[in-house]
Amino acid sequence: MKKIIVAGAGIGGMVSAILLSAKGHKVEIYEKNDEPGGKMGEFRRDGYRFDTGPSMITMPFVFKDFFSEISRDMKDYFELEESENSCRYFWSDDTVFNSYTDRIKSGQELNKVFGKDTADSYYRYIDYAKIFYNLSVEDFIGADINIRNYLSREGITNLFRLISGRSVNDLSNKFFKEEKLKQIMDRFATFSGSTPFLAPQFFSVIPYIENEYGAWNVKGGVYKIAESLRKLCGEFDVEIHYGCELFDISHKNKKITSLKFRSPDGKIIETDKFDILVSNFTNSRMLMERDYFENDDWANSAFIVKAGMKKKFPELSHHNIFFSEDYQKEYIDIFENKIPSDDMTVYISVSSKTQENDAPSGCENWFIMVNAPYVNPRTAWTEKNSRDYFEKIIDRLNRFSIVFEENIRDCIEFSEIFTPEDFKNKYNCENGSVYGLSSNTLYTILKRPKNKSDKFDNLYFTGGNTHPGGGVPLCFQSGRIISTLI
Ligand SMILES: Cc1cc2nc3c(=O)[nH]c(=O)nc-3n(C[C@H](O)[C@H](O)[C@H](O)COP(=O)(O)OP(=O)(O)OC[C@H]3O[C@@H](n4cnc5c(N)ncnc54)[C@H](O)[C@@H]3O)c2cc1C
Repeated sequence: MKKIIVAGAGIGGMVSAILLSAKGHKVEIYEKNDEPGGKMGEFRRDGYRFDTGPSMITMPFVFKDFFSEISRDMKDYFELEESENSCRYFWSDDTVFNSYTDRIKSGQELNKVFGKDTADSYYRYIDYAKIFYNLSVEDFIGADINIRNYLSREGITNLFRLISGRSVNDLSNKFFKEEKLKQIMDRFATFSGSTPFLAPQFFSVIPYIENEYGAWNVKGGVYKIAESLRKLCGEFDVEIHYGCELFDISHKNKKITSLKFRSPDGKIIETDKFDILVSNFTNSRMLMERDYFENDDWANSAFIVKAGMKKKFPELSHHNIFFSEDYQKEYIDIFENKIPSDDMTVYISVSSKTQENDAPSGCENWFIMVNAPYVNPRTAWTEKNSRDYFEKIIDRLNRFSIVFEENIRDCIEFSEIFTPEDFKNKYNCENGSVYGLSSNTLYTILKRPKNKSDKFDNLYFTGGNTHPGGGVPLCFQSGRIISTLI
């Protein structure tokens, strides 16, 4: 039995702790903030409830596998509900497209909105993307990233297929004529914190996964997953110490020998009673190799507003996307110029559409999210700049007269802004990026931290910034991978 300390009670941290404890190790978690979940947070105000991070869940089998591994029944903790209409897309020329995961419905909608034969090209794209899923599921998503995984089988060919020079946008151009459909498929690359103009075609697995395995909501809100993990920590004797930030380590002969945590009142806790450290964050010069921080291709961040809306909007679904006019320029702004785009694509999750307790009667809870560049000197997220940017977002939304007949400004009961700077400060994200290093190039993909540290023999990494990547199911997978490695 090993004594293991986990730093960070995000999804990767808690899943790792539970699995390691289930295997007989003694595990404790130290978390900087006062609540579990990390980016999967919850915010309540005036009768409204918001999920502050993830709003949609994919790969439901990952959760079932986790629960069966710890001999528990998932339905005793949280319930997944399939979302029939996975997203509603809007353009300012009044085009509306409903994405369905049901093949027949989806095909009918594609042909109706984008013209006949579109469904054929869409499903040829999905079948093509399936190749990447099949190639990656065992060697990449399910295991520690290790070149040996690829040498041991026809892997070399597969590896080259995965990382070929074709980008996500090249793939869209190959399959589609319709610009709006390209816009939809390209946006999935941002789910890995990357731009479709650079991210390898491999990331077409994201729409494949959504199409094949469905898009899911969580009954009562996504935060139920974090609450369930906290509960499971209790059941597996994993103590969580809140308000404890890891700020210093000692080491000898490639081994971490002691850890220092600081609480908000300045109290220092020091311990050398551990064998292994599992870190749920990578933004730390003490834990990472120095050259990691010399990168400048960090994943994008997000500008978020939680808005209580004193009115219902029947045209909205639970998940909605309002596209920009010039999406190439938008990506150039965010990823090359590293400035927030004035012509922005806006995502609005209205969980009260499916979870009626999430907003008072006659009202809606809007979680508004816009992709933003990681924190850099070109943008200062002062209170004024943040407010001004929110005003621009409202102006942009007001152009969608098919949905908003009146000025939505008049319907806002309150709004709470969360900027890339807040991601950096609250969750200790590298430059406020949501997923650490981007996956824009093979170089950055290979530079992403591995699950087992090269720097220290008793250090492991879990969570979205490490392997296999960002997103709730992959964070569960990283917990499973390191519990196996350890
Ligand atoms: C706005 C947004 C929308 C998203 N939407 C989706 C979605 O729809 N579907 C999906 O699957 N995924 C989505 N994601 C991604 C998903 O939320 C993340 O990949 C996942 O929650 C990250 O988990 P993690 O394990 O990396 O931990 P994190 O959430 O990064 O948590 C790390 C924890 O470590 C703590 N910590 C940091 N430094 C220290 C320290 N020095 N000492 C102690 N503790 C420390 C932090 O406080 C935090 O609690 C979204 C993310 C965001 C931000």
